[in-house]
Amino acid sequence: MGLVDTIIGHNKEKQILLNALKKDRLATTYLFCGESGIGKRTFALEFAKVLNCEHPTAESDSCDHCSCCRKISSNNHPDLFVVAPESNVIRIEAIREVQEFLSLAPYEGRKKIVIIDDAHLMNQPASNAFLKTLEEPAANSLIILISNLPELLLETIRSRCFRLNFALLNEEETIQVLKRHLGIIEEEMLRALARLCMGRPGIFGGAEYEEIMGEFDNIAGALETKKVSDRVTDRTELEHWIERITIIFRDILLTMVHPHLKDALIVDSLQGFYNRISKKLDIDSIIKLYTRLTDLKRSLRFNINLSIARNYIESKLNEHY
Ligand SMILES: [Zn+2]
Repeated sequence: MGLVDTIIGHNKEKQILLNALKKDRLATTYLFCGESGIGKRTFALEFAKVLNCEHPTAESDSCDHCSCCRKISSNNHPDLFVVAPESNVIRIEAIREVQEFLSLAPYEGRKKIVIIDDAHLMNQPASNAFLKTLEEPAANSLIILISNLPELLLETIRSRCFRLNFALLNEEETIQVLKRHLGIIEEEMLRALARLCMGRPGIFGGAEYEEIMGEFDNIAGALETKKVSDRVTDRTELEHWIERITIIFRDILLTMVHPHLKDALIVDSLQGFYNRISKKLDIDSIIKLYTRLTDLKRSLRFNINLSIARNYIESKLNEHY
């Protein structure tokens, strides 16, 4: 399976890149944008195989079993360098390693490839250093930046990249990804998870169905105690926590406004909880909580302090709930 078969959905992006490759008109730097959990990183790795595959198919796709493809699958290819943030930041040392990597000719492939995941987490010195790399691109190299928050990248970096906007997966594509990666086959479970992730099947990681649904029970419990779970220890986890609680708010609201539309609930296992809660709360409070928390989620992207965010949520729960 090459890029085309391994990646479910994102057909326009596949076509753009494979056509550019066929015509020898690839850009030197790409920016893969789009929500988290939709497969941008997997796509970048599969495209790296395409670029260096020893036995490409007639459609220029990778073979997925030559030595190059296998080395990339096991993250062990000498011409591929992947940068990921450490403790939520990409520092200048990582960019210096990129520069050193790019200063040498390809070792066994046709191109040197750099993938920078969560590129918006480069701090100022890293961004400035990286800008220099973009201004003087190394021969036979290709850089892919990945970001779900591209607006946080320097404009001078963004303007030097060929941008591809990856869309959310549709329901059928989401189900296919869940089947393949979580190994779930029960239709009902698949539909429930597809509704939960809203086109972003990657957000579940490798978690089991019971684990995922259990998290919602925990969050529903947190509403009763008016406390953010102690398990939330960093901003990404808090962001996920808020995402899940807003799903619960959305379901509570639906239960209040259209109690006959039970099929449209996202977490229908919480139906009993929703019925109980919807009798205690008024619509206005739920809408206010929903709005406050979605606003807060947006602020989290701008480095708001975790304990301030936690206190804020707990005070809003006490106020409106
Ligand atoms: Zn291959």
